[in-house]
Amino acid sequence: MNRLIASLVVALATTTAAIAQEYPTKPITMLVPFAAGGPTDTVARLTAEAMSKTLGQNILVENLPGAGGTIAAGRAAESAPDGYTILVHHIGMSTAPTLYRQLRFDPVTAFAPIGLVTEAPMTIVARPDFEASTLAELIQTIKADSEAITYANAGIGAASHLCGMLFMSTVGAQMTTVPYKGNGPIMTDLMGSQIDMTCDQATNTAGALREKQIKGYAVTAAERQAAIPELPTTAEAGLPNFELSVWHGVYAPAGTPDAVLAKLTASLQAAVEDEAMGKRLNDIATLPATKDQATPAALKERLSSEIARWKPLIEAAGQFAD
Ligand code: ASP
Repeated sequence: MNRLIASLVVALATTTAAIAQEYPTKPITMLVPFAAGGPTDTVARLTAEAMSKTLGQNILVENLPGAGGTIAAGRAAESAPDGYTILVHHIGMSTAPTLYRQLRFDPVTAFAPIGLVTEAPMTIVARPDFEASTLAELIQTIKADSEAITYANAGIGAASHLCGMLFMSTVGAQMTTVPYKGNGPIMTDLMGSQIDMTCDQATNTAGALREKQIKGYAVTAAERQAAIPELPTTAEAGLPNFELSVWHGVYAPAGTPDAVLAKLTASLQAAVEDEAMGKRLNDIATLPATKDQATPAALKERLSSEIARWKPLIEAAGQFAD
């Protein structure tokens, strides 16, 4: 290497290191793959607020719904790896490679994982005036005329889609599926009785269930949830082994400098221990990650194990998207 090039390389490395040291010097954009007002949006806004306290910069939430979350994930994968664009995504990151035949990014290599942020069970819910009052009655009503019942989901790869897919194959009946851009708009239509039912994270339904704005049949967890204690578990309601837990993680594009990733991770770790965020999550039956889970290694491991876990289930269901 000649001297000039060598000194340019040194200068560039020094500048990159200095930029990473000063990071962040301007607001950060947090991409959210579903519409505003839904569970992923709620997790993202709480996380953004808590992380901005330690980063000393605003984190602006941008909702970019569509294609079960893959549009926002694709945009994040292609963004400049400078720490100014990050992504919050859920379990859908691990189902996308099997569900989408033409996915334009590889969830494992296109991102630098920052850490896990929350985990929540799902709830099987219906419009407030739906006739069935127990899960057994709900299943009976569905089986009697499944096409007449509308099931809302937030697109292929959304947790509401996965839960619906498992529910329909478990009860052996296909309802009429209505796709939305997120569970925010689904909740509005459910409360207004424009659709019959859905399966949504407790994050989004706990408040509406307590207020009796929607009907609840079961929570997809082994234990009842303190925030919605009246809701039986799926096993108690007659569907043993029907458990589904939705985890969310925070990602940066691959190639983001280590020093920037370290700052984002430290800030995420402070967020999951933030008292205000913890209290709010507790109220909506959503568990913050532990400090050890809010790390790149833990998210990397969860992502790979979940990709392997969902692959055979999705292939058996035989539902794919292009
Ligand atoms: N995360 C939700 C789902 O997967 C969608 C949303 O957050 O609005 O169904």
